[in-house]
Order: sequence, then C-alpha cells, then structure tokens
Amino acid sequence: MGSGKMDKRYDVVVIGGGIAGVSSAIAASRQGARVLLLEKSMSFGGVLTTALVNPMMTFHSPVRQVIGGIGQEIVDRLIGMEGSFGHIDDPIGFVSSITPFDPEKLKSVLICMLKEAGVNYMFGALVTDVFSKNRFVREVEVSTQSCRFTIKGSVFVDSTGEGNLSIRAGAGYFKGDGDQTSCQPMTLVMRIRGVDREVITSYVKDHREDFVLSDTTDLSYLGIAGFFSFMPRLRKYAVSFKRDRLLFFEIPSHPGEVFMNTTRYPGDGSNVIELTEAQSKGNCDVWKFMEFLKNEIPGFSNAALVQTGCSIGVRETTHVVGDYVIKVDDLLKRKQFADSIAVGAYPVDLHMPGSEGLKTMKIPFPGEYYVPLRALFPTGIENVVLAGRALSAEHLAFSALRTSPLASATGMAAGICAAMSLGSGLKVREVPFGSVQREIVRMGGIFE
Ligand SMILES: Cc1cc2nc3c(=O)[nH]c(=O)nc-3n(C[C@H](O)[C@H](O)[C@H](O)COP(=O)(O)OP(=O)(O)OC[C@H]3O[C@@H](n4cnc5c(N)ncnc54)[C@H](O)[C@@H]3O)c2cc1C
Repeated sequence: MGSGKMDKRYDVVVIGGGIAGVSSAIAASRQGARVLLLEKSMSFGGVLTTALVNPMMTFHSPVRQVIGGIGQEIVDRLIGMEGSFGHIDDPIGFVSSITPFDPEKLKSVLICMLKEAGVNYMFGALVTDVFSKNRFVREVEVSTQSCRFTIKGSVFVDSTGEGNLSIRAGAGYFKGDGDQTSCQPMTLVMRIRGVDREVITSYVKDHREDFVLSDTTDLSYLGIAGFFSFMPRLRKYAVSFKRDRLLFFEIPSHPGEVFMNTTRYPGDGSNVIELTEAQSKGNCDVWKFMEFLKNEIPGFSNAALVQTGCSIGVRETTHVVGDYVIKVDDLLKRKQFADSIAVGAYPVDLHMPGSEGLKTMKIPFPGEYYVPLRALFPTGIENVVLAGRALSAEHLAFSALRTSPLASATGMAAGICAAMSLGSGLKVREVPFGSVQREIVRMGGIFE
C-alpha cells in the first residue's frame, strides 16, 4: 500500500493510474480529500509506461502553451532528473511542440508526486465490479493476485481509459464510430538500440521528399516520419501489418535508442480475444520487422530490439455517453463553452484500421479547442467523474482529444471537481464550474 495503511472507505477513489488518474488523484488530494488510487498494472503512467508511448504531444498551440498544471509539473520533474529535454519543436511539424521522456524516470516521478501529495495507492488492483444504489456508486470490488475486497467511496474518478467503471455502473457507451471495427488500430511500440543517428540525419537531409519534415527542423533531435519509398519492401518480410511510413523518436539520455511506433493491428482492444490476437501478432512480427530495418533502412544495420511494450498500445475502444459528447465540429469550429476546463491543441489524427495511412485535420488558427466539464459526467450516474481518454467524445473528436497532455489536464479538472463536490455537499454535476475553473488556475492549469 503506497503512503500508509489501507482503509475501507475514502473520499475519492480514482480507478486507473495513467497520466489522467495520477493527475486526478494529486489534484483531489491537494484539495484536502482522502484519496485512494487503484491501478491494475505495476506502474503508473498507463500507456506512457506500459506501452512505451512517446513523446507526449502537445502542450502548445501555435501561439502559446495550453496545458499547464500537474502535467507541466511532471515534465519539470523529468527535466530535473534528465528524463526529458522538456518541450521541443516537432521535427515532423505536425504539432507545435513534442515532449520526449524516459518512461523509467516517469514511473519514479509519478510515485514521488503521489507520495508527496499524500495519495494512498495500490498496484496490482483490478476493479472488477461496481455496486450502485439510486444512481450513486457506493463501492467497488477490487481483485488482486491473492484476494478480493471492496472499497467504499463518496466520489469515484473513472480514469480507466475505456471508461470501464462507468460502463459497469450502467452508463451508456459506444465503440469507435458506433461500429466496433472502426476503432483505431493497436500498436506494439518497440524500443530499439544501436541506431546510427549520423547516417539517418545525412540520409534525411539528402532525401527530404521521402519524409514529413517541418520547414525549420535542423534534426538536432530525431523524430522521423517517413522512409515512405522503402515501405513496399516490408512485404517481403511477411509481417502481418501494413504501414506506409516508419515513425520513430529518440529517447532522452539514451543515445542511439529510439521508440519505434510503426506496427498496427486492427481490432477491439476491449475484447480480450482480439486483444490477445493483436498482442500475439505483434510479438511475432517484431523479429521480422527488425530484419527489415537492419537490411533495408539506412542507420539500422547494427540495431537491436531492447524491449516491446509490456502491453500493446490500445488507442480507442469504448466511449462513454456523457452529459455532453464532444463532436469534431466543436474542435474544428473552436466552440466556446462556459464550463470549459481544458484547452487542447492536438489535431484530428485518425489511424484508420483498414488502411496504411492517417486521416488528419488541422484545427483552424490559433489551433486551440476547449473541453467542457459536462463531458466528464457519465449520464445517469451522480458521483463519477471521467478523466483522460475516458472522457465523452465521438470517434473523430476523440482522435484529437486522446493524447497525454490533455489527459493530464482533464484528469486534474476531474480530481478538483470530485473533491469540491465533497466539500460543498453537492453532486459532482452541481459543483459550480466557476469554482472548478478557479482551482484549475490556482494549480497552474489553463481553461480559456
Ligand atoms: C500506440 C499509441 C500511440 C500514441 N501516441 C501518442 C503520442 O505520440 N503522444 C501522446 O501524447 N499520446 C499518444 N497516444 C495517446 C495517449 O498516450 C493516451 O491516450 C493517454 O496517455 C491516455 O491516458 P489515460 O491516463 O487517460 O489512459 P491510460 O494511459 O490508458 O491509463 C488507464 C489506466 O487505467 C488502468 N485500468 C484500466 N481499467 C482498470 C480497472 N478496472 N482497474 C484498475 N486499473 C484499471 C490501466 O491499467 C491504465 O494504467 C498514443 C496511444 C497509443 C495507444
């Protein structure tokens, strides 16, 4: 049990310790609530640590920083232990900044911050059932390796990524765009060492047309999307996925190492059969893919696979129906919300299951959109707040809203709202949004 002994009842119980859940738990605890954070895996950070997703993108719109608060505190801590360079220009030019980091250092940073905030937490704690009465979740069943027990809470934060707490409690939901085969594909990220950055840099400089590059990049940091003309050769290595480009990023403080985000497996990651199938294909494909890299791609002849994510990265599964379901037009038309609690700047970025490429849409200048607090309330449930990837959004809007800096911002807002409802004796959706906004600003966050 992190930070002390476990009780049977907490003010706020946060389910899921990804970047959203951690931000939420810290925020609620700083508001004075007694908080328990339950995480089924053995680290915090969610897909950022278990699936090796990297870099965080993006903390900035083209005109300013739009994510602050606990997300920025996490980055500052990482910089302090040489686990990140901080925010740097995106060499691909897709977003205004990227934030590469060392996931092992992120694991420690998140634990330190939770302990400092006085959050109680538990690893290996899978929430398997929910007991509700009169639209309130009263307690959750936790299954561990050795036993099962229940925990009572006054308010619950659902930061499970797929909203599985809310769905178990009876919230409405849909998958993908309503058809589960439309869910964005899964990716098994690979950590590769022995990559020769000099060879790659000089090849990219001489063949700019084969890459997506920002006009200003000097390639002092390697974030590469391209080698398009090489990809047809992937067929002869008999991998089971198709992809039109390589996508990889250098790892801070690990010269010659990159995270390769290129494999792709269609399927519904909330269905254990399809999840198992995707993970298995990934673990078999990576060796053939390494042969392709070593034989065909400049700079990879001495490369070796260090590790794959311990879980395949699941981009999209279920979407909970909230009091407000964010639509893509809200982003593209930059709709203003009186109850805004976060500003995002990541564009629409849809990895399509049936094709090798991406569908992207830019947000009109200044490239920012808003997230309403109502999108964090699952309809029909009175004491659950959604956070991070679990927020309520349609498929296309979700493809923009899903990334990690915004997950941290919505997590912080969820934690504040959960704690404030206790202090005021109000239901979560009755907490005045102005009070939540005031606390967001006090914690260094941005909502307008
Ligand atoms: C392949 C891939 C590439 C991506 N690329 C980028 C990128 O380059 N940059 C970027 O910023 N974002 C990227 N994203 C998106 C982004 O990383 C995630 O959407 C974001 O980090 C989600 O954070 P989260 O905390 O909401 O959810 P998650 O990270 O999914 O965390 C949810 C946590 O809840 C836990 N959990 C779930 N159910 C239970 C339960 N019942 N009981 C207990 N614990 C539970 C899980 O174990 C997990 O730790 C990518 C995602 C994927 C999959």
